[in-house]
Amino acid sequence: MTATPLRPPSREELGAFARRGDVLVASDFDGVLAPIVLDPASARPQPGTIEALSAMAALPGVSVALASGRDLATLRALTGIDESSPIVLIGSHGAEISTTLGSAASGGSALSDVERAALDGATHALETIAERLPATRVEYKPAGVVLHTRGMDEDEAERATCAALAVSQDVPGVHAMRGKAVVELSVLDVSKGAALAALAAERNLRATFYLGDDVTDETVFTTLRAGSDIGVKVGDGDTAAAHRVPGCTDVPTLLDALLGALTKARRYAPRDDADVRDDADAGEGAVSAPEAGR
Ligand SMILES: [Mg+2]
Repeated sequence: MTATPLRPPSREELGAFARRGDVLVASDFDGVLAPIVLDPASARPQPGTIEALSAMAALPGVSVALASGRDLATLRALTGIDESSPIVLIGSHGAEISTTLGSAASGGSALSDVERAALDGATHALETIAERLPATRVEYKPAGVVLHTRGMDEDEAERATCAALAVSQDVPGVHAMRGKAVVELSVLDVSKGAALAALAAERNLRATFYLGDDVTDETVFTTLRAGSDIGVKVGDGDTAAAHRVPGCTDVPTLLDALLGALTKARRYAPRDDADVRDDADAGEGAVSAPEAGR
């Protein structure tokens, strides 16, 4: 599969999405809101991104969620989104959710004995790999364990990655997820796509807008419906998303455009008819997102 020249969503497409009634706006964090950095602890959201999402969350009929591989506590700390915010935080690829999702909620902190034993086995296996390849780093989560290979020599990183992926074959009940320079072993069979679909179903939301940059975000893009949802891949790589922006520096401009469309649509009664012509938006131009000074 070769990369097709996908374009950013146009203003008309954002306007049509905004008029669909109750909607979900969701995004990944690393590589989308925050530039990828060598030290994950120093990742920070780009100026204006959290502000735009918070403004969207304050609009009637707009649910906002962040879906990250980070654990919930770290995601909260890095974004500054506290418990009073209406923004839903989904951590550990869906194993931790900051709100109660009825029957769809997955209990990241309450592992069964079997899950606990699987987590211990996966943890021991990754620690053994890290002893052999000291440039790797092990991260511990409530329902998973992660091997990081960012910054490593390419061959060494591949060896570490293959060894980590093999753990899921050896330890029963362990699910492996490969991302950019990470392998996550989880004892819960979760995904960002399943978590966001559960949120949308719980709140009866009619359309989803999603931004993501990594292979784990494909679990969301593959659930989106052409014609009503909007998926935007950030950066290079094969994707099931219908749109793309070149990099995370394009994201603040895109979020501003979406905020504008949602705000405008909510000045009037929400309309389901996506074909309604909006003369004020009658321009074909895609929302290009130059690295404007922000
Ligand atoms: Mg990411």
